[in-house]
Amino acid sequence: MENLRKTVFIWNENYLEYSFPGDHPFKSLRESMAKKLMEERGFFHEIDLENAEPVTESLLEKIHDKEYIEFVKKKSLEGKGYLDDGDTPAFKGIYEAAILRVGGSVKALEMIEKGYDVAINLGGGFHHAKKSSASGFCVFNDVALIAKLAEKKYKIAIVDIDGHHGDGTQQLLYDDNRVLKASLHMFHRNFFPGTGNYDEIGEGKGKGFTINVPLPPGTADDAYISAFKEVVVKKLEKFKPELIIIVEGGDSHFDDPLVELKLSTKGYSEVINEILSIARRFSSKIILLGGGGYNYEATARIWTITTAQLAGLDMSEVDLLHDCCFTSSTNFVKEKVNEVIKKLKEIHGLLD
Ligand SMILES: [Zn+2]
Repeated sequence: MENLRKTVFIWNENYLEYSFPGDHPFKSLRESMAKKLMEERGFFHEIDLENAEPVTESLLEKIHDKEYIEFVKKKSLEGKGYLDDGDTPAFKGIYEAAILRVGGSVKALEMIEKGYDVAINLGGGFHHAKKSSASGFCVFNDVALIAKLAEKKYKIAIVDIDGHHGDGTQQLLYDDNRVLKASLHMFHRNFFPGTGNYDEIGEGKGKGFTINVPLPPGTADDAYISAFKEVVVKKLEKFKPELIIIVEGGDSHFDDPLVELKLSTKGYSEVINEILSIARRFSSKIILLGGGGYNYEATARIWTITTAQLAGLDMSEVDLLHDCCFTSSTNFVKEKVNEVIKKLKEIHGLLD
């Protein structure tokens, strides 16, 4: 059995307020379903609970324009229209709902600084939000914010396994060499957000600190895991992170309605094991954030299994939450992913 790691789970009942109305796919049901699965299995005998509090405006201004923050406040009072071109609707109270969830990620960082090994905020992971705009259901970017807050103290790696490119995080930290940004995502030009090709590698002193792994539709566990091991793990071994921030969208799962990647819960679990072995080697702390995930049931299972792994809990009950089997890619997809791996190894100097 794994050793227990000192773990805290950040929560606030008002997380439910961050949920888009009508038939919008982003619903807060996912987080509460995951928490219920954890409660039923007695997770909180071993894992501490901590209450999220809203992030202050002065902290938000470290990464967002004041004008944009004011705009969100205004739309939040009006409660109609969109915060972007049509993906992220405004609803009454969206500002308060967003700052609470971002505050949860700031709380996760505080708990790491207080001595926890692992801090979990499933209410976070808004990786599309940019400096002066909302995007892809994300209002404020908690991922980039906590990296900025922590980078003087820690060498940080962000590992983003949401099915979409973490474009907002990339934009906000593109010239930053204290934060390694790795994003694995489905990629083609007509798929949101359209960025995240292998040649986007950072700028200025941040050059080489952004790694994008663009994956074709149909990428399943086998090809995904080999890309993860051969590129991301190798880069992490060189970088030696002191803090790893995981953005775990559940939308890389094979049953997700918006993304055509084919990861099973076993594939997710394997990726988390790889991250854990890096964390053991370099004594890295871990922050787990949520992200997308539009099959709520699958996303809840993924987050529950990951939480158990990171905390080092007994896996025997949790194992029942897994999909039956690892998934396989077609030969065509495998070849395409192998080409991506080869290019990335050249670009990032990983050819030894
Ligand atoms: Zn996503």
